Amino acid sequence: MNNIPEFFGCMVWGDEAMKKSLSEDAYKALKGTIDIGEHLDLSVANEVATAMKEWALSLGCTHFTHWFQPMTGITAEKHDSFITPAESGKVIMEFSGKELIKGEPDASSFPSGGIRATFEARGYTAWDPTSYAFVMGNTLYIPTVFCSYTGEVLDKKTPLLRSMQRVSAEALRLLHALGRTEVTHVYPTVGAEQEYFLIDKEMYMERRDLMYTGRTLFGARPPKGQEMDDHYFGAIKPRVAAFMEDLDHELWKLGVYAKTEHNEVAPCQHELAPVFTTCNLATDHNQLTMEVMKNVAQKHGFVCLLHEKPFEGVNGSGKHNNWSLNTNLGENLYKPGKKPFENKQFLLFLSAVIKAVDEYQDLLRISVASAGNDHRLGAHEAPPAIMSIFLGEELEEILQAVAHGEEYIAAKKVKIGMGVEVLPEFKKDTTDRNRTSPIAFTGNKFEFRSLGSGVNIACPNIMINTIIAEQLSQFADILENSSDIAADTERIIKDVYLAHSRIIFNGNNYADEWLQEAKERGLMNLRTMPEAMQHYGDDKNVALFEKNKVYTRNEINARRDIQLESYSKAINIEALTMVDMARKDIFPAVSRFVGHMSKGVLAKKQLGADLPCDAELNLIRTLSELLQEFDKYITLLEEEVEKVHNTKADPLTISRMYCDNVLSAMRKLRKVSDKMEQLTSAQYWPYPSYGRLMFTM
Ligand code: ADP
Ligand code: MG
Repeated sequence: MNNIPEFFGCMVWGDEAMKKSLSEDAYKALKGTIDIGEHLDLSVANEVATAMKEWALSLGCTHFTHWFQPMTGITAEKHDSFITPAESGKVIMEFSGKELIKGEPDASSFPSGGIRATFEARGYTAWDPTSYAFVMGNTLYIPTVFCSYTGEVLDKKTPLLRSMQRVSAEALRLLHALGRTEVTHVYPTVGAEQEYFLIDKEMYMERRDLMYTGRTLFGARPPKGQEMDDHYFGAIKPRVAAFMEDLDHELWKLGVYAKTEHNEVAPCQHELAPVFTTCNLATDHNQLTMEVMKNVAQKHGFVCLLHEKPFEGVNGSGKHNNWSLNTNLGENLYKPGKKPFENKQFLLFLSAVIKAVDEYQDLLRISVASAGNDHRLGAHEAPPAIMSIFLGEELEEILQAVAHGEEYIAAKKVKIGMGVEVLPEFKKDTTDRNRTSPIAFTGNKFEFRSLGSGVNIACPNIMINTIIAEQLSQFADILENSSDIAADTERIIKDVYLAHSRIIFNGNNYADEWLQEAKERGLMNLRTMPEAMQHYGDDKNVALFEKNKVYTRNEINARRDIQLESYSKAINIEALTMVDMARKDIFPAVSRFVGHMSKGVLAKKQLGADLPCDAELNLIRTLSELLQEFDKYITLLEEEVEKVHNTKADPLTISRMYCDNVLSAMRKLRKVSDKMEQLTSAQYWPYPSYGRLMFTM
């Protein structure tokens, strides 16, 4: 396994495999589809299918599956074997172009948000030739999109492809209006940094909260948390290092550009960053990364937690979505160059982001909304729920200069000397890093940092691509009809800055003062999932999606309901799990401990009336009182859940009940439990403690 370039992508039917196994014509046709979206003929598909099958058989495959991304948030697959009956009871291994292009999984068991009733079960998966097929285990995986019998979209991939098409087309129009006719294609590029926790599998199996919900629902804080800042970038422990090595190998075989592995802020938290690639591939790769992480963890006796908030009191996990636009000539449209002030093309594309984020704050917030992520946003560990952009001083000064018609004089780059002769000097970056902004311009790309660790990155990228496409299209409308391109370009940049500079914030987004200031600026602060989702179907959003042909109104409403239902289901499972743990484990455990102490006190009294028992009696009293309270809150939580179960309201109202009433009852119950945990002998406590979970790796 030492020759990485040799085995990289060995499980992917990528460019090399295609070239090797297809006729020249078929290869050209397929490349045309992959690179510039040309339609693919069935005869070519037949040749591709045969070549793919032969390749897969040579790697020991017996099955194939259409691999798709329904609204469940995870990927789905239905395996078929290649066998086809042949003469005299024998079989041959077959795979046709038709089977490659179209699959028919029963769609009725996937969420559709009311688009499709159960009796209309037919659904189609359709091959997405722009993402490479790959082999895992004994199966050939074919990336596909998923739609209903009537053509409505039931997955995350179709709208992503639509949005990519839109942003590419509009960027191209704008570039052509600027005279850049040599550019023929533009691609959104994405690099998704992935955070995760690794915990010991045996301890995981002892906690039903982790098993059922992915996060701990009870757990007192250990004496040590993350306050020493000694884990971030710290030396990687051997057992974790072995996991990471294995993970890299598995990902490389699948053609995933896993690049950077390091420890994160919280104990037992880590991060993997890939090299960026086109948006579509990056999305598939991130889904694969999450799956492979979980599988490889199992092999090493770990469980990989991708929940946004597995532990209270330490940082949760997020994902950073680095996004940019690249041309077919390899030009990054968000690279400011040496003299950004003179680079009006860059400033124009930058203005598109500023205007887009300001006008569609709600959509960006919606794209990262989930039950898990609500615990992170605004909790001083992740950006707040308020959207804003960090540009850095230099860029903001440039935009100010354009807006006010002034000349911009660049500050000289300062050299950093370390005061040690032997060390090389290097030039300081023009802006410092800002780690708190939800959307940070980081030199040649935008880093969207509000994503939860478990989200499918298709969702945020659908939004980003679409809202940018919309702005680029508006700019192109102006410049295509302009008689003075330079003046009109300048005017657009100026107008955008004057109208939308409120969305730019270079300060500390975690500070309480920002909440106040953002409010004064009129920015949205959608703190919870129900608050955010209620804006999905706002007229301006529906108009955006319908104009850009990404979603219909019907599809938006369906998506909103699916997401709200999955939010409610998640909290419902959490609440039921809490009640179960509380009644069956925690209550009896504390009661046993109190009983044990009481027996001790009685025994002491028999030994001698003067033996002091105050300490034990105090503890017995405190715990007994806490148990009363605990019992009361279990009942309260049960009642709140029952109330929601008995309501026949719409998904938004139900999600609000979970958000406002059930979650608050859960917090009350947890608080009492955590107090009891701190007072109860570890021998009696039924679960591995936070300390053991996080520090005994
Ligand atoms: P950090 O966030 O720690 O500063 P880097 O700046 O090295 O890390 O990059 C973070 C991520 O951004 C990586 O996944 C990288 O591949 C990705 N990235 C870099 N350039 C681009 C680009 N032009 N488009 C999209 N993603 C990019
Ligand atoms: Mg980052």
